[in-house]
Amino acid sequence: MKKNLLILIVLIMVFLPGKSYGRIDQDLDFIDVKIGKTYSALERVRISSANGISIYQKNDKEDAMMELPGDTMYISLSLGSYDNLDIYDDSNTYVTTLPANGTVLFGGETDDEEYLMTVNGKKYRGYTTFIGDRNGLSVINHLDIESYLYGVVPKEIPPMSGHEALKAQAVAARSYAYSTMTKHASEGFNVCDTTHCQVYGGYESEHINTNRAVDDTNKLVAVYNGNIASTVFHSSSGGHTESSENVWGGRVPYLIGINDPYSLNSINSNWKVEMDVDLLNEKLLSGGIDIGVINSIDISDKTESGRVVQLVFNGSRGDAEISGERFRSLLGTTSIKSTLFSIEGMTTEVETTESSLLFVASSRRIQTLESERGSINIISGDGRIANNKSDTLNVIGDKGLVSYKAPETIDIARGSLVISGKGYGHGIGMSQYGAIEMAKQGYDFEEILHHYYTGVEIIKY
Ligand SMILES: [Zn+2]
Repeated sequence: MKKNLLILIVLIMVFLPGKSYGRIDQDLDFIDVKIGKTYSALERVRISSANGISIYQKNDKEDAMMELPGDTMYISLSLGSYDNLDIYDDSNTYVTTLPANGTVLFGGETDDEEYLMTVNGKKYRGYTTFIGDRNGLSVINHLDIESYLYGVVPKEIPPMSGHEALKAQAVAARSYAYSTMTKHASEGFNVCDTTHCQVYGGYESEHINTNRAVDDTNKLVAVYNGNIASTVFHSSSGGHTESSENVWGGRVPYLIGINDPYSLNSINSNWKVEMDVDLLNEKLLSGGIDIGVINSIDISDKTESGRVVQLVFNGSRGDAEISGERFRSLLGTTSIKSTLFSIEGMTTEVETTESSLLFVASSRRIQTLESERGSINIISGDGRIANNKSDTLNVIGDKGLVSYKAPETIDIARGSLVISGKGYGHGIGMSQYGAIEMAKQGYDFEEILHHYYTGVEIIKY
């Protein structure tokens, strides 16, 4: 009875119009960030604050609807429903039920700028709200954009970098946040806290240096033609940034490839990956590309900056064309750090011996082959260059091809390739290591931003 009365009171207070998400906040000082995973219907989220927890309506943060009895609360979806939340206190006593549509905020007094809430062990500024749907329960941090940036900038750039580089990153992160406000609109919030949007670590990831960079660029954004620019960035360009149309298809006037000498001597400006052809085969297979044993790889198309657009794989069962970006994601974007790469050691990769004599052993006898002109190539019966799993061995000398029945254990030389590349990331927009180098050389944050984002203006939002 008591529970039902409380539900009724709360519903009246919130004017819940059926099941609908809280509107995406049009108050552009605030942002809704999904933090952490989606919780299952059976899980509880623990929230606590040393300064108490009050409940607000999202569109009225001045007057609290109620104050919760205690500093620690447990929130979960109501049993069998994703429209409502049940709130329990620290001693597991039921407190109230609230709508799970992101319209109800949990937070401190309005004028308490230092208020922190701990959500499952991690501290956050601002307010917390919850959205339930058929996937479960999402926890949303509702906070002003400048506070959000405190938790973003140190996750995107080393906080010990030069101050002007940190300021450039703060402006880029702010502009990018404004330009991606609708990315998760269908789910009822603005951005997530992963690399999908921008990595956000909350209060504990903040650093005094990056907070100062956010403060020193308060509300400054990059605009192009009066619109906030989508100021994408990456770790290192490797010496030349890339035009957006070459990677994402759309031409964006301020995201065009430029010569970037500042990124030449940074971490990851040069990298090298050695890879066994067998492993490459496995990776392609895992991506559904089954062309048998790889014989050769051709880089068939490159951008002006040298980034790989298209590769053609020739295998024993056919050819496959894949994009440079796909190749990167199949092999792992942390190992193939960019598409600015070349491949060596992958010719029609047949083992070549220097000797003109070749001994082939089968279970019955040893056959000696002789080549008059020096080089003898070995491939297995199924065209394979590496491991001979077939029981037939083909030997090609200068005089032609001979087939032998070979014992299965014969291990023919293994093929490998070397992928050498430059830079880290997609290469579009600002190179963060380039920005750090520019700051070292005395450029200020506006000069850094103008270098990487062609034709933008820096204005106060
Ligand atoms: Zn996202």
